[in-house]
Amino acid sequence: MTHRFQVRDRFADGAQFIAGRLRPGTSGRAHAVVNPATGEEIHSYELAGTADVDAAVTAARTALPGWAGATPAARSDALHRFAAVLSDQAEDFAYAESLQCGKPIRLATEFDVPGTVDNTAFFAGAARHLDGVSAGEYSGDHTSYVRREPIGVVGSIAPWNYPLQMAAWKILPAVAAGNTIVLKPAEITPLTSLMFAQAAQEAGIPDGVINVVSGAGPDAGERLVGHPDVAMTSFTGSTAVGRRVAEIATATVKRLHLELGGKAPFLVFDDADLEAAVHGAVAAALINGGQDCTAATRAYVQRPLYEAFVTGVAELMESVRLGDPLDPATDLGPLISHTHRDRVAGFVDRARAHARVVTGGGAPGGDLKAGAYYRPTLVADAAQDSEIVQSEIFGPVLAVLPFDSDDEGIGLANDTPYGLAASAWSRDVYRTGRATREIRAGCVWINDHIPIISEMPHGGYRASGFGKDMSLYSFEEYTQVKHVMYDNTAVARKDWHRTIFGDRC
Ligand code: NAD
Repeated sequence: MTHRFQVRDRFADGAQFIAGRLRPGTSGRAHAVVNPATGEEIHSYELAGTADVDAAVTAARTALPGWAGATPAARSDALHRFAAVLSDQAEDFAYAESLQCGKPIRLATEFDVPGTVDNTAFFAGAARHLDGVSAGEYSGDHTSYVRREPIGVVGSIAPWNYPLQMAAWKILPAVAAGNTIVLKPAEITPLTSLMFAQAAQEAGIPDGVINVVSGAGPDAGERLVGHPDVAMTSFTGSTAVGRRVAEIATATVKRLHLELGGKAPFLVFDDADLEAAVHGAVAAALINGGQDCTAATRAYVQRPLYEAFVTGVAELMESVRLGDPLDPATDLGPLISHTHRDRVAGFVDRARAHARVVTGGGAPGGDLKAGAYYRPTLVADAAQDSEIVQSEIFGPVLAVLPFDSDDEGIGLANDTPYGLAASAWSRDVYRTGRATREIRAGCVWINDHIPIISEMPHGGYRASGFGKDMSLYSFEEYTQVKHVMYDNTAVARKDWHRTIFGDRC
């Protein structure tokens, strides 16, 4: 893959997109964007400070009346044009995403970018489909109807694992519903969020509707959540930071949407197609280097298939090619940073005392030594209550445990604080039906694990948060419904006034 553009040139004006133009931050602190495949600096920019957040919120507030007042058709047209611009720039987006995240270019080209274009096209259509109960004379004496209205200025905070898709998931339902937005991407991966906002402007979405502040969590992030003119906080990230965000948002009485961590179980019953389960587990554990909130992280395999599953997964993991993310032949790139790689390694190293590291469990050497690489890792026979089974690792590490009865398998699948996603593997419709009913997670796949689609909701249960991204369900987060009630009687002394005046009515 040839280098499509020089990042330094493209963002020479700064990494804050406010009121339709790039500008430098004013925090006085520089931040380096690093290519995790090499450890080299790609770009250095000045982080957003609280003054930049305030300026972005002002821009969003200024743009709000015009955008909220536009017809659904006008917003829809703009979003259709936006999808076309994104599609035209697909290769640039894939390149920048791969560069800043270490994401294999094949994944960026075949998943992140087309998924984002499709999401944009979906919300272009959905912008004309804000629904509710029909108007009617529910009381007999009045006509009632519902207005579905935007909430106002939305403040969104996103993580680094899928920067482009997370920007899209936050921005699209918000603006389709008539809100304006200030997005704070993770400071280590701001590039494609900025490009996304620029593409929206190119498509004719008015200045100020979409603003991006590239800043650190504790200052720019907390200012955005606590800002009095921000009506809603939409946060995707870890459960620990989500708790802090919830505290600040609650103190300022904001609408809150939290998409938090996950620890997805992968439940294999003894009548499953073993080959499908083995392939599915490796793909679902390693996608995006395992830095995926829905990645398969805990495989529970019914005893008769257990050893064959362990052998099959280990063999397949060993066939995965680590390499340069920009090489289309590469299956797996580095993790997001050296610090994160060391954190992942720490989980595996601590597990060695009580579990079996079947394959992986270390960084590759040779040409890949300088990057934040970690080999695909399978850890067998860990205890259910151990750290490697209970905590979110966010790396290419799959734990595998045996189970005996169906009751036990479903119980184990539910036995972490998280509830984002899960899968069950069986040829028996009654077993899979039971799994879909009893596993407590926002998504349950049957005989697959990972696919997402614009029309369907994504969101967690329990410590994985609440609220939905994508689909028409996301409008429940980004709109508020107003009941309008007209009196139809034209009577001054209404029947219900008897509750106050009694017989004097
Ligand atoms: P993180 O929680 O460390 O950071 C997420 C964002 O919050 C970043 O933009 C960060 O700058 C910001 N932030 C940090 N401290 C803050 C503060 N005090 N106030 C306001 N903002 C603050 O998460 P991460 O490491 O970037 O991403 C990985 C996590 O995201 C994992 O836990 C993963 O499961 C989760 N995730 C969840 C989903 C989902 O849909 N549920 C999707 C992707 C990632």
